[in-house]
Amino acid sequence: MPWRPGQDLLDLLELAAPAACGGCGEAGTRWCPACADALADGGPRRWTPTPCPPGFPPTWTGTAYRDLARSAVVGWKDGGRADLTPALAVPLRAVLAAALDGSPEHLAALGGGGPVPVLPAPSARASTRARGEHRVEALARTALRGRRSVLPVVDGLRLGRRVADQAGLDAGQRRRNLAGAVVVRPTAVARVEGAPCIVVDDVVTTGATLVECARALVTAGAGPVVAVTLAATHRRPPRAPSSTVRGPLSEPSGRD
Ligand SMILES: [Zn+2]
Repeated sequence: MPWRPGQDLLDLLELAAPAACGGCGEAGTRWCPACADALADGGPRRWTPTPCPPGFPPTWTGTAYRDLARSAVVGWKDGGRADLTPALAVPLRAVLAAALDGSPEHLAALGGGGPVPVLPAPSARASTRARGEHRVEALARTALRGRRSVLPVVDGLRLGRRVADQAGLDAGQRRRNLAGAVVVRPTAVARVEGAPCIVVDDVVTTGATLVECARALVTAGAGPVVAVTLAATHRRPPRAPSSTVRGPLSEPSGRD
């Protein structure tokens, strides 16, 4: 039998890869049909946080950030499950399509041959380093494979200053933490100027990140901005003083 180092290496990588579903942990599969269904639960839909912060762009999302969807996103982002990118790109692609259908300006630009730039929400440099890639950018590129001439993924948004971890902050604190923090990279200004743009993020919670991304783009001269996310957190309403209901707000890891 001929020596096939490449095949041997692939076999080894396969053995080393987690053979458990990224959502429910079922053995023998990386992504099971039940989890795929959970992530498409309800289908793409328009979503607005409550309360809705000023400047929140029209936003479409795939599902509620809980249960299987939550474990899949957490594992994908920080649990070493980058192999879930293709699985998560499927529902994101459906959300992108719904956003385009819902925005006449974006549809018109696409009808004219584009481009409609797609911009991943910025990640703190340390997180990107730790993950070895900008995870949301990789997700967007995978979701738009074959369409990137008209829907180019532009890594044009970055944090212009340090911000605190958004986890644990309330809506007002998140807004203040991020205010003015997102900037358009100088190299990307010409690509977004006058163009309808789409911001992509994994999870939307209070909307502070999407507001900030949209503000930065409009300041740089972009056309109308819409946003898409894989999932949206449904926050419980603030507890009334007489209530005895307890429990932490459901918060995604990292910023929202
Ligand atoms: Zn599963």
